[in-house]
Amino acid sequence: MIDTLIKNAMTITVDDRRRVFMDGAIAIHEGRIVEVGPADAVAGRYEAATVIDGGGMIAMPGMVNCHFHLPQVLMRGVNDNTDAMHKLKHYIWPIQGHYDEEDALISARLGLLEMIKSGTTAFISTGLHPRYGIDAIAEAIIDSGMRAAISKYVMDISAYALDASAIHKGLWETGAESMQQARALIEKWHGAANGRLQAWFSPRSVGGCSVELLREVSRLAAEYGVGITAHWAEVQNNVDYTLEKYNMLPAAFAESVGLLGPNVTFAHGIYFTDGEIDLLGQTRTNICHCPVCNTKLAMGVARVPQLLAKGANVCLGNDGVPVNNTADMFREMRTALLIHRNNDMNPEYPTAAEAIEMATINGAKALMVADRVGSLEAGKQADIILIDTRKPHLYPVYDPVSIVAWAANGSDVDSVLIDGAVVMRDRTVLTMDEAKVLGEAQARSHKILDQAGVKPNLVWPLL
Ligand SMILES: [Zn+2]
Repeated sequence: MIDTLIKNAMTITVDDRRRVFMDGAIAIHEGRIVEVGPADAVAGRYEAATVIDGGGMIAMPGMVNCHFHLPQVLMRGVNDNTDAMHKLKHYIWPIQGHYDEEDALISARLGLLEMIKSGTTAFISTGLHPRYGIDAIAEAIIDSGMRAAISKYVMDISAYALDASAIHKGLWETGAESMQQARALIEKWHGAANGRLQAWFSPRSVGGCSVELLREVSRLAAEYGVGITAHWAEVQNNVDYTLEKYNMLPAAFAESVGLLGPNVTFAHGIYFTDGEIDLLGQTRTNICHCPVCNTKLAMGVARVPQLLAKGANVCLGNDGVPVNNTADMFREMRTALLIHRNNDMNPEYPTAAEAIEMATINGAKALMVADRVGSLEAGKQADIILIDTRKPHLYPVYDPVSIVAWAANGSDVDSVLIDGAVVMRDRTVLTMDEAKVLGEAQARSHKILDQAGVKPNLVWPLL
């Protein structure tokens, strides 16, 4: 007797052979996949406590969102019409700089709920700050059932690139404080919940960290065996900064402080040159592409086809909700396909294969759990989503791979399993009180703006 059997689902495995079973079955026991294959061969072999009929559904690995800001979810749509730096300095940082622990927790819960409901099973949450109440957020993630790497911002300079006092005062920390708390986070939470939760370092962007601090992060991350995530080469002033201050391009600067390699995930990575792309490929550094954010904020186009060709591991992320405005990884896949085809005037590349790989197995590599999740294979943990195709915008189904990359939305996800546990069934999240999360988020939305003295940027008057 096994715990769960999913049968009769179109099954996209993303295994080494990229097998797709048009009538597939997945046997799950004690959190792990026991067998995946054709339903007529697999389903009859097992008696299961729970049988999920996957008829009309596509089963695939859960999405891995490799760049997300849990505390920013309450800022959805606060300002849709400025560039990245203006938004950070005048909206995001002042609002976060006034947050209390309840504000951040309610934001985090809304983000967790949205990710689960749109088929994301794992994520990397970039920089947390002590004023957010990090322990309560860690507990909320564990309770939600999601898999995640959370990270603590470290900094010893209050600048962003060449802007000397860009970071809001409410977010300043000393090097000693921020490192001590990052270490405490790792020692308390890394590996919790059967390894579902990891704890990493997150250096504030270039300009916020001294060379000494970055070297210490590199050394300690290796010692603890944890990851590092940071925004890197996201806007032109990042390049100006490393050139002016260190006479190096961003990737060379990262190398000089030990910040390249498979345990490093850089968000955005738009401004890398050919030589830097070679270096990122050779070191198997992870680049988290954020196509919706980059397009919305007119930041430029990350050189994803070149990065993939040179061996860098490119994954996908939403970034913050105020720059996106959702956490829907299907929209991320589709935007990546659209912008790179148009940018390179190439209707043949990238394809659905690259989009799905970036959203699943490549994300699992960045999260450093590709041996455990990211594909549907015997021995891996069962992080699985079911997409209900029985809708006009998804019919007819010639190829489920095309449906997922080109037509489906997060709202088409019917069920979510993480570590074999059913977290969402028939679009009802079983680990969270959805109405309560939404109610609390709406109630907090004006409070967080009022306390920061920020008004939403409206395009039309609200009467
Ligand atoms: Zn970000």
